[in-house]
Amino acid sequence: MDWRVRFVDYPEQWRRQRDGLLPVIEETIARGDLMLRRQLADFEQHLAAFNGSARAVGVSNCTDGLRLLAHALDVGPGDEIVSVAHTFVATISPFVLRGATPVLVDIGDDHLMDTGLLADAVTERTRAVVPVHLNGRTVDMTAVQRAADAVGALVIEDAAQALGATLDGRTSGTFGLASTYSFYPAKMLGALGDAGAVLTDDQALADRLLALRDHGRVAKAELDGWGYNCRLDNLQAAILDWRLARLPQWIERRRELARIYTERLRDVPEIRIPVGPDDDPRRRDVYQNYPITTPDRDRLAEHLRADGIETLISWPIPLHRQKGLGLEHFRLPRTERLCDEVLSLPMHVELADDQAEYVADSVRRFFGR
Ligand SMILES: *Cc1c(COP(=O)(O)O)cnc(C)c1O
Repeated sequence: MDWRVRFVDYPEQWRRQRDGLLPVIEETIARGDLMLRRQLADFEQHLAAFNGSARAVGVSNCTDGLRLLAHALDVGPGDEIVSVAHTFVATISPFVLRGATPVLVDIGDDHLMDTGLLADAVTERTRAVVPVHLNGRTVDMTAVQRAADAVGALVIEDAAQALGATLDGRTSGTFGLASTYSFYPAKMLGALGDAGAVLTDDQALADRLLALRDHGRVAKAELDGWGYNCRLDNLQAAILDWRLARLPQWIERRRELARIYTERLRDVPEIRIPVGPDDDPRRRDVYQNYPITTPDRDRLAEHLRADGIETLISWPIPLHRQKGLGLEHFRLPRTERLCDEVLSLPMHVELADDQAEYVADSVRRFFGR
């Protein structure tokens, strides 16, 4: 299919970044800096500083970051993990695979965890509350922390979609004990393949994660226990470091695009749109995605497709309706409804103003406006 507007546009991204990135790649390879070299250390330092965290540990992907955290915290059978069903499966799979039991709560109007439900969801068995800053918007962390504190649980933030988002001037991923980030190519900060990181202010935890990601190694020939191979590839770290320097302007670009969508779609009563970039004084959302909802979702997606616009449904089946996961005892009506109605419009840094306007106008036309 020849799209007029791609959901994400990797070829255009490469055209724009080629001249900047090729020398970075060339130099890294030419120096032989392939594993755990200074490019990784530099990136970790810059990433921690960007977010206002004490430490960043680069890992192979966000899922592995959560896996190493679950291991480091010794999560296991008998532990409960409180999270949501409207998320990527990797938010909870690393905990479940260690034997923990997921407890899923419903979501609110902004597609994020309804923190008002947490008081009834946590118990003395709750080991961690895992909020997800979905679509680049920060969960109400005061409420999350209060609920976790009430039962002595930890808070681990799945910030895979929210690098750079803030709540009350504080960066997402700095509220809990630790937060995990994905640098999957389509994320806020993307690698040219898989990559991720764990951020934390806890020095001992960061040191433990450094060992766990590299077979338990603490010195060249010394192991402090069993570990994994979950290193962040050094070449990817070099690429990510170059891109991180440009992230602030890319976040601004995403917010500009969200402004275009919001202004053009605000008065279409048949759809619900995200909170606009200028409409929530407490938050700076970074618009990893721009999801709209309508009961006519499938026909709208077909209409947009016919106009050459690529969209994405994240996710058509919530975790508790996935037959293979054994979570079908949960009743989460707002999550279930959202999965029937949600549709993400194209959102990426390379999207031009007139493309965003074309997308918004196509949505309006579908509803006869
Ligand atoms: C992308 C994503 C992940 C997984 O990240 P990977 O780097 O692909 O492992 C986890 N949680 C959420 C919310 C995500 O969007």
